[in-house]
Amino acid sequence: MELTGSSAIVTGGASGIGAACARQLAARGATVVVADLQADKGEALAEEIKGVFAQVDVTNTEQIGAAVKAAAEIAPLRAVVNSAGIGWAQRTIGRDGTLESAHSLEAFQKVIAINLVGTFDMVRQAATVMSQNEGDADGCRGAIVNMASVAAFDGQIGQASYSASKGGVVGMTLPVARDLSAAGIRLNTIAPGLIDTPIYGEGEASEAFKANLGQNVLFPKRLGTGDELASMVIECLTNSYMNGEVIRVDGGIRMP
Ligand code: NAD
Repeated sequence: MELTGSSAIVTGGASGIGAACARQLAARGATVVVADLQADKGEALAEEIKGVFAQVDVTNTEQIGAAVKAAAEIAPLRAVVNSAGIGWAQRTIGRDGTLESAHSLEAFQKVIAINLVGTFDMVRQAATVMSQNEGDADGCRGAIVNMASVAAFDGQIGQASYSASKGGVVGMTLPVARDLSAAGIRLNTIAPGLIDTPIYGEGEASEAFKANLGQNVLFPKRLGTGDELASMVIECLTNSYMNGEVIRVDGGIRMP
C-alpha cells in the first residue's frame, strides 16, 4: 500500500515507538497527525516531520474523533498506528507482594481504559472514515497497526492490568481484522519485547535498570530500538498481504 499522498495518525506519537513510527511514516510520504497527551514533545516532532500535532487523550472519544477528522481533511487517512500506552505500574505497585498494591482497582481500570479501550475506539472511528477512501488495485482502503506486548503472553509480578490490556489487544486482532476486511481495511498487531523508550523513565537508575533487563533477551543482549519496531510497523501497513497477524518483535525474549 502506497503512503505518499495519504494522512496517517500515530497515537502516542510524541515519544518512543510512536515517535519512531511517525518519523518513518513521514519519510514514506505520509502527512502524520501526532496524537498524544504531551503537547511539547508532540508539537516539536510534528514540526520536524512537517506533520500536525493533535492533543488527544485516547480515553476521550471526542478527541479521537477530532484527530480522525483532522487527518482526513489533510488527505485520505490510510494508516493508523495505536501506540499510546502506559505500562510500568508494576515498578511501583506489587513489589511489596501485597495483593492490595498489585491489584488496585483504580490502576487496573486506568490501564485497560488507555491500552485496550482507547485502542479499540481509535480503530472503530478511523475505520469508519477509512472505509470511505477509494480502494487500491486490491480494494484496500487503509491499514491499522495496534501495539500489544510480549506481556500479553508472559506477564510479570504486578503486571495484571498491563497483561490483561495487551492480551485484549491481541485477542481482538483477528475478529476485528475479519470485520474490517469487509471494508477493505487490514489490521495487524505488533507485540514488542523490551524496547528502549521513555516508558522506563529517564536518568541513571533507569539506564542501569534497562542494562539489566537486556540480559534477559535471547539475542542480541540489549533492548530493542524504536526504529527496529517502527520498520515492522511500516511493513505491516504497506505489505498488501499482511492481515490479522500478531507479530513478536522481541529478540527472542522469554521472561524468566
Ligand atoms: P512511551 O512512554 O515512550 O510512549 C507512550 C506515549 O503514549 C507517550 O507519548 C504518552 O504521552 C502517550 N500516552 C499515554 N497515555 C495516553 C493517553 N491516555 N492518550 C494519548 N497518549 C497517551 O512508551 P513506548 O515504549 O513508546 O510505548 C509505546 C507502546 O508500546 C505502548 O502501548 C506500550 O505499552 C507498548 N510497548 C512498549 C514496550 C517497551 O519496552 N517500550 C514493550 C511492549 C509494548
